[in-house]
Order: sequence, then C-alpha cells, then structure tokens
Amino acid sequence: MNTSADNKTEALNAINEKWMRECTCTLRSTATQAVPGDGSANADIVFIGEGPGRDEDIQGKPFVGAAGKFLNEMLAAIHMKREDVYITNVVKYRPPDNRDPLPEEAAACYPWLFEQINLIDPKLIILLGRHALERFFPGEKISLVHGKILRREVAGMGMRNFYALYHPAAALYNGGMRGILIEDFKKIPKVLEKIEAR
Ligand code: URA
Repeated sequence: MNTSADNKTEALNAINEKWMRECTCTLRSTATQAVPGDGSANADIVFIGEGPGRDEDIQGKPFVGAAGKFLNEMLAAIHMKREDVYITNVVKYRPPDNRDPLPEEAAACYPWLFEQINLIDPKLIILLGRHALERFFPGEKISLVHGKILRREVAGMGMRNFYALYHPAAALYNGGMRGILIEDFKKIPKVLEKIEAR
C-alpha cells in the first residue's frame, strides 16, 4: 500500500471511530454495537445496504449473515472480494427486531455515511434495496431502476454515479428477483468501465 492509500485507511478509521463515540442516534440504545462498514478505503465501489441484522449486530460487520454469503458469492462471480470494495449501510445500528429503519433514523445516520463516501470518493455507489435507493433517489422504485446507471449531483459530494440492485436478502428466497439480481450484478464490471470511459 502506498502512503496516500495508508492515509485514506487511517482517515476512514478515524471517521468511524469518531461517529462510534459521538453518534446520538436512537437505534444505538437497543443495538449491541455499531456496524460502521467493511472493506477498503481505496475502493472504486461502495455498496450501501439497509441496516445491520442479527448476525451483523453480533459481529460488528455488515453483510455477514445469509444475505452476506450471497453477496460474497456474487462478488466472487465478478472476480472481486470484499476487501476490494467498501460495504456499509444506511443505518449503522441494528433496528430492533430487524424492522425497517425509520426515515428519521436514516436521516440521523446520513452525516456518517456522507463522510465515508466523501473520503472514499468511489467511482460507483451501489444501492442495495429500496432503503438505500430512497436515501439518494426519494420516490424512485427499485423495480423500475434496478440494473441502470443513475447519476445525480449530491449536496456536498458533487456528481455521483449510482447503480441500484435488489437487496440480496429480499432476492435470496424469491426466484424471479434472485435471477434478476444475479444478472444485474454481473454487469458491474461493464458499468465501471462505462463510467471510467466518460
Ligand atoms: N442487510 C443489510 O442491509 N445490511 C447488512 O449489513 C446485512 C443485511
């Protein structure tokens, strides 16, 4: 790793440590621990899921349960590993009983996510499921925009490239959705090439 890559890793660790100390989000009181994110601060791709589930809450790492195993398999199919990308969530603490994060919880966690994205400065942000999509494209439907490159100016972040996918947990036990997710996922290398050629 070169010095600037080392610096970025340290800076990302510092962001996560700061928010773990300072976050006042209401989910914190019921969760076991924070699940800030996993992977490389130098990644070209950041994946954003919904929020930690039971396994993630116990291990302090995102996507380590059944949905995570599926995500790892799809990454392997495009010759990538978790260490090549950064994986995080809209909310960093597990919502009680795995309920959907409330809009105010997603909003409270946004400054943390914002700092992570701005530091990593990825070429592509992959939105896993409707909650991640809603954060950046309010009112859009995942069934309409999955598998498409989406671009928008984000306040404080400049122009950003996004790619929306069905959530691996939602697709895991739904044959139709699972097939679509696998096909959309396989297009990621081409999506990245297209963005790099712009
Ligand atoms: N589902 C998510 O959205 N995030 C995780 O970290 C695990 C499952």
